[in-house]
Amino acid sequence: MTTHSEPLDSVLDAVGETPLVRVQASPADVPVYAKLESFNPGASVKDRLGVYLVEQHLERGDIHPGGTVIEPTAGNTGIGIALAATQFDVDAMFVVPEKFSVEKQILMRALGATVVNTPTEEGMTRAIEHAHELADDMDNAVVPQQFASPLNADAHEQTTGPEIWEALDGEVGAVVAGCGTAGTLMGVARYVLDRQPDAHITAVEPEGSLFARTAGGEVEQHEYNIEGIGTSNLATNELYDPELVDEVRQVSDRDAQVELKRLAREEGHLVASSAGAASVAALDVAERIAAGTLDVPHETVVTVFPDSSERYLSKGIYDSYEEWVDDT
Ligand code: PMP
Repeated sequence: MTTHSEPLDSVLDAVGETPLVRVQASPADVPVYAKLESFNPGASVKDRLGVYLVEQHLERGDIHPGGTVIEPTAGNTGIGIALAATQFDVDAMFVVPEKFSVEKQILMRALGATVVNTPTEEGMTRAIEHAHELADDMDNAVVPQQFASPLNADAHEQTTGPEIWEALDGEVGAVVAGCGTAGTLMGVARYVLDRQPDAHITAVEPEGSLFARTAGGEVEQHEYNIEGIGTSNLATNELYDPELVDEVRQVSDRDAQVELKRLAREEGHLVASSAGAASVAALDVAERIAAGTLDVPHETVVTVFPDSSERYLSKGIYDSYEEWVDDT
């Protein structure tokens, strides 16, 4: 499914080099380009992180062959790590809040990993705690902790960022991406800002999430349906650096779902809710550039579509808004 054209030795060699495709609803003279991360073998942006984390922790001696990688994860990171674990001599174990999609948990188990659930109402904070409790009881185990590990943003600074830059010959005016751990946005933003300090950086989150508070936004925390982005506790998002971000754009569940359905029907993209939110925000940035109300060094906007809607069919992602929200 990737854009690689040579025969490869292992599934790990198929991670990255994903296509960058113009969003056709972009203003005519300000294209939005979306990086289609479902083209990775584990079908999400997190394959990049999974491979990089396992490789780095083995190389550094944090674990040795035969050891266990234990990670609190909403799912996609688990799939990425589990996929990498099949190719290195390590086991994978994941701590997942119950609310996250059952498809992801089935896939992690299919890749040979162990999945431990924590109560939905205790959120990622409890999942993180429990991962450390499990690791403390084991020899030869590591908790990469994607929410705090600099390796997370590094993975994107070394792969996603350069791929975008090269595909557009450095003509990147704005970067718009959803933030969960914020590894994707921080890594890409760092790579782009090092080369184009005036590029405009937009963080995207669901309404009900709290990244906006880092930019002085008076937002209230509440539940949301968009999966994979947002935070209810900023203290856990250690990677998020407000200094790199020009604005935080909140997107409602309803707008994200309208857009992901439009992307499927009109443009042929089978992408999920965090991509719907990213697309809403990226098109908004492009429209402001086209209207002359936002100044950027190049009239080109880049965003990331992190994964595929197939992973959320059991949650009614293509049903009515009410059914989608009720299914969660
Ligand atoms: N979308 C989805 C579906 C995800 O699983 C994630 C990862 N949590 C993201 C977006 C956000 O990526 P990041 O953690 O790099 O901010």
